[in-house]
Amino acid sequence: MSLCQSNGSSCGACCGLFNLDCLHIELKKILEERTNFFSENVDYSKKETVILYREEFEKKENSYSKKDATIYNCPFLGYIEPNKKRIGCMIHPIKTGDPKSQNFSFYGASICQTYDCRNKERGNANDWENFFDSLALDECQYSNLAGDHILITRIEEFFLDSGISLLFMFQNHFSLLKKILLYKFTKGNSNITSFEIDMESSQQGTKFQKLVDKLALVASDELFSELETLKL
Ligand code: SF4
Ligand code: SF4
Repeated sequence: MSLCQSNGSSCGACCGLFNLDCLHIELKKILEERTNFFSENVDYSKKETVILYREEFEKKENSYSKKDATIYNCPFLGYIEPNKKRIGCMIHPIKTGDPKSQNFSFYGASICQTYDCRNKERGNANDWENFFDSLALDECQYSNLAGDHILITRIEEFFLDSGISLLFMFQNHFSLLKKILLYKFTKGNSNITSFEIDMESSQQGTKFQKLVDKLALVASDELFSELETLKL
């Protein structure tokens, strides 16, 4: 398995899911609608049905509110398992048997198959994948964290700056790490994709302050105090 398709869940952040300006519950409805329509109307042996599907959903979803109008959200992202908990590419070669089938999409097969986000590129991507799985997240929450390379960078930098190795962080700070990750959802501060540029990385400020800023924590928050006790 991989960060994109873990044992427990899966991610679709780079396919633009979070560019739709919706709550997670609404995103799930959109994914279901795509999946149902796709399974009822697309027959990959009839290529025109794939083209018609894309046209239909691009037109429909163009009317949805987007966080960034310049970022594409691909309608081929849907549920790829019958229990509808696993997000994935509905025209992936594994499903179509055609290695070039993603050429029906805006990005095309070469980009779809070679893009790796910063989190997937990490040497410890497996550790993060296992950690996210241990939190029993739903597909939108998992995807939201798996694609957020800026938050994961802020967390790693904070622990390392506090003299705690990343291995020790996973083994001995499970509870704090869980609080940090879940706190993100209380603020609704969602990444749009997985390819945002980390504009603040070179700016002044301690690793503690940068993590605090990223989470929009304030001094009165319990989590703020807990992080502060780890600061060197
Ligand atoms: S955002 Fe990263 S983890 Fe998520 S599907 Fe894309 S490459 Fe995989
Ligand atoms: S075609 Fe590409 S961008 Fe669209 S869902 Fe599949 S992998 Fe994502």
